[in-house]
Amino acid sequence: MLICNALLPGGQVRDVTTDEGRIVALGEPGSLSAPKTDVLDIEGALLAPAFVEGHVHLDKTHFGAELVPHEGAPDVQTRIAVERTLRHKVSRPVEQRARDLILRMLSFGTTRIRSHVDIDSDIKLANVHALLAVREQLRDIVDIQLVAFPQSGIVRDPGVADLMDAALAAGVDLVGGLDPHGIDGDIDGHLDVVFGLAARHGKSIDIHLHDGGAIGAGELRDIAARTKAHGLNDRVTVSHAFSLGMVDELTFGQTAAQLAEAGISIMTSSPPPVPVPPVARLRGYGVNVFAASDNIRDCWSPFGNGDLLDRASIVCQRQEFFANEDIRGAFEMISTAPARALSISPYGIAQGDLSDLVVLDAPSVEEAVINRARRLHVIRRGRLVVKDGEVLI
Ligand SMILES: [Zn+2]
Repeated sequence: MLICNALLPGGQVRDVTTDEGRIVALGEPGSLSAPKTDVLDIEGALLAPAFVEGHVHLDKTHFGAELVPHEGAPDVQTRIAVERTLRHKVSRPVEQRARDLILRMLSFGTTRIRSHVDIDSDIKLANVHALLAVREQLRDIVDIQLVAFPQSGIVRDPGVADLMDAALAAGVDLVGGLDPHGIDGDIDGHLDVVFGLAARHGKSIDIHLHDGGAIGAGELRDIAARTKAHGLNDRVTVSHAFSLGMVDELTFGQTAAQLAEAGISIMTSSPPPVPVPPVARLRGYGVNVFAASDNIRDCWSPFGNGDLLDRASIVCQRQEFFANEDIRGAFEMISTAPARALSISPYGIAQGDLSDLVVLDAPSVEEAVINRARRLHVIRRGRLVVKDGEVLI
């Protein structure tokens, strides 16, 4: 494919060629050639790495279904109990809701997705099989990683460890976890199962950690120590990590240093009104931090739309990222940073990088974030999958 007259994030205008899923060359306009049928002239529009959705719940979403009235809950445990009842009242099947949301995300410029999938003693592997089927249906247009997610805990929900084991054997890609202290009340028991499954199946890990304060920070250091002991550097993500926004300077520094040393990525959706990890300080310690959608129209929140430019804007406003370089950092948090967390490499817009690209109606990366720029075209593995805003399926 030859993409002509592309404005690159660095400000240069270049022609770009791709082949076999990679960027082959970048050159002055008019200097490169390709078969005539594969030419896309974007006339000075911004060409950027496609977005990577590193944390979403495709099986939970009510996307395309009627609004299920939200029921309040004072804490995570109550929210889980409410969801276990309400989820059976959603009319559309999981497969349809997930598929429609994925296509919407693709139209927003996202070509790679990591989705957590609920596993518990009630629904067992039903949602796992639903999302494995959807992934297979859409394999020609989008890449999806699935995480075995114990939404009701592991230790306190008997049989879940075996169900997670079966999910991994069936094709799920990562081992999930959830609040070893807050949900299971057994930090070692929970982490023994998570790291044990990862070792047995040779998988990476992505843990939800809402636990706050000194306990949550202690769990982060435990996870960092286990990551190093298991040789899983650069293959573990912790989502939320609210404790990093609560602890004192000394504890924060010690924890951040250990996270960086273990190559642990941190995901923040920057939700109000809870404390959130201070992104700039974490990056100062060398921690990879990315932004993601998390819940989209489900029992946890009726809001969310799967648009990662929206998410970058939310992060900027929550973290007071108003300077140009900070806004560019937020753009990295929905593209190159989640790519690193998801082991998608090499990712960017240089020769040899994977050719997953988005064409934006914007004069710069900063304006793309500020204006939530229109997505014109999306290219996945060197092939056009969205043209003029329409998914080609
Ligand atoms: Zn989540």
